[in-house]
Amino acid sequence: MNKQQKELAEKILKLKNEKRALLLAHNYQRPEIQEIADYVADSIGLCRRAQQEKNAELLVFSTVNFMAESAVMLNPDKKVVIPAKNAFCPMAAMLPAEKVKLAKKKYPDAAVVLYVNTLAEAKAMCDVCCTSSNAVQVVNSLDEERVIFGPDSNLAWYVQQHTDKEIIPIPQRGFCYVHKLFSEGDILLAREQHPDAEVLAHPECKPEVQCIADFIGSTSQMYHHTIESPKKEFVIATETGLIDRMKREQPGKEYIPAYSEAICSAMKLNTLEKIYLALKNEEPTVTLPKPIMKKARKAVERMTEITGR
Ligand code: SF4
Repeated sequence: MNKQQKELAEKILKLKNEKRALLLAHNYQRPEIQEIADYVADSIGLCRRAQQEKNAELLVFSTVNFMAESAVMLNPDKKVVIPAKNAFCPMAAMLPAEKVKLAKKKYPDAAVVLYVNTLAEAKAMCDVCCTSSNAVQVVNSLDEERVIFGPDSNLAWYVQQHTDKEIIPIPQRGFCYVHKLFSEGDILLAREQHPDAEVLAHPECKPEVQCIADFIGSTSQMYHHTIESPKKEFVIATETGLIDRMKREQPGKEYIPAYSEAICSAMKLNTLEKIYLALKNEEPTVTLPKPIMKKARKAVERMTEITGR
């Protein structure tokens, strides 16, 4: 952190204590934000931590829009603010509720499983949500033989490799533009340059990237894998913020980005300055209409019932 960032960080920490607020930062946040956050985790991990913090009244959710919505639905008694109000995930925007409705009409016998990376209005229309770490478990737990799955078609492909059910992706080519940046060539080059490294890829990466990775997992799974693995070098195919976290929290191993420009601009809209202002003014707040919140929460809770966490 530079001098200016340090001064801002001190002001944030002071205000956070005074207001009994929690600063929750996603794994893809800027390093200076991760450094002062109370928790750094994936989106559902952050929501769960907030639920455990009974005394916290204000949640500063340094993430993107759909994650802050999940925080609202799982913490209805707390005030949720998002520092960058325009931090919109383009992948979540690819699946408006209307598209879910149309798919349900087209495949009335299919169950609807939506990745948590969707907007609340879409979640409210599904049977159950999933994360990238439990998608296979959730799908395989269902009675239905056909499953409408969205919005990420690469995660849908990954699930299809681990189930006998028929996966119907909606939209047909939904994707995360950040994970789409990784190519087979990036992985092959990294392997050549780092022959002892293990290659870890997110299931939002393209199938050809997943096929040549040593390990496929969510950000939390990748994080824990690097701790447990005896390897000392890792090539990481996900947003570079996770690498910042690994370097800070688990020094002594080497983490190499599979592509150093894999940066989510929506995530990076959050800054220390915006966090300070969000804390001070307690806005922009995130709210949801009650009926949507209730239905979307039910879909997330069903996921918890299936996975036990
Ligand atoms: S990394 Fe991809 S899925 Fe995550 S917020 Fe950015 S665009 Fe959305």
